[in-house]
Amino acid sequence: MERIAVLTSGGDAPGMNAAIRAVVKVAASRGVEVLGVRRGYDGLIDGDVQPLTRRLPGGGRLAPTADVETMGSLGGTVLGSTRCPRFLTSDGRLEAARRLRDAGAEGLVVIGGNGSMAGAHAFAVDTGFPVIGIPASIDNDIGLTREALGVDTALNTIIEATDRISDTARSHHRAFIVEVMGRHSGYLAMASAVAAAADAVLLPEQGRSYDEVIAAVADAIRASFATARDKNRVLVIKAEGVDIPTHHLVNEVSAELADLPQVEVRGTVLGHLVRGGSPSFRDRLLAGRFGLTAVEGLVGGATDVMAGWTYGGERGVPTSDPFIRLFALDDVLVETEALMDGTSAVTMDRVRRMEAIQGVLAL
Ligand code: ADP
Repeated sequence: MERIAVLTSGGDAPGMNAAIRAVVKVAASRGVEVLGVRRGYDGLIDGDVQPLTRRLPGGGRLAPTADVETMGSLGGTVLGSTRCPRFLTSDGRLEAARRLRDAGAEGLVVIGGNGSMAGAHAFAVDTGFPVIGIPASIDNDIGLTREALGVDTALNTIIEATDRISDTARSHHRAFIVEVMGRHSGYLAMASAVAAAADAVLLPEQGRSYDEVIAAVADAIRASFATARDKNRVLVIKAEGVDIPTHHLVNEVSAELADLPQVEVRGTVLGHLVRGGSPSFRDRLLAGRFGLTAVEGLVGGATDVMAGWTYGGERGVPTSDPFIRLFALDDVLVETEALMDGTSAVTMDRVRRMEAIQGVLAL
């Protein structure tokens, strides 16, 4: 294999640039040139590529271009990302493969979320072009990997924000409802609630009705501010996927607590703040490990697979890294569906553990 291409697709996540850098450095070390595809699958169909490796004068060895050297610490994606309706069609995917072959590429690394992995699988099936996925999504909603790129950075951002909110909440004896991203997956809310010592957490996976959500928050606030307990702040973390707008929830809960006029409830939606930022150490390390195993996989003839941080067990193909395996993309997509609809053993275990500590959170 002499030349491969790499792209980022779907929602951006911190660590995407570190993964591009890893792919380029590993490929260059093995004498494989790398083309960066701008704007995800859109750029693939349009043939919008730039070289990410260059030949050094003299011996002709390959090295990363100057922008690759500096990109690893940046959030977002320097190659850009789009949602691409054309890639949903077979014609679009065939055109993309033709463009790649014209550019001399023999393999493709797709860094993206679960939609991008579905696209990579459809691309491999339709065109036979070798492709390997690297999971990147702050929502942690991709099957067969413990974590996707961006999750650790997003969690660090959330706990920094909730620490700041807790400072002001304690000063005024207030209750705060903080909404974090996660339309279909409550993972960020769940994990940050433990780390931030929240008093309650609201997840789409709990399947609570509108009234149950309001009652749960009101109960948590009432119990925390009761004379016998007398906390000085209440923090409730709500996943975006819980289908009540946060300002609405604040109003409903305040009405529910009308008998406690001294209790003030406030809401903050962290939104896209959680998506940006320089990747954490762990996301950079994971990006390096995914990048290494993806390039080794492509060069070794693997295709239609995703590098995943394994839970252990026998599934997937081992790599040179004991904690990373290559999983068939169709298995990844089946497990991703199950993560979303709550039938995955991983989701059930997360919800069970969360329910087990609800009482502890409230203490
Ligand atoms: P993410 O990768 O963050 O989940 P999307 O769901 O928007 O983001 O997917 C990114 C892109 O992947 C889409 O815009 C589309 O081009 C492509 N894609 C998603 N699902 C499929 C599919 N089933 N078949 C082909 N391409 C897909």
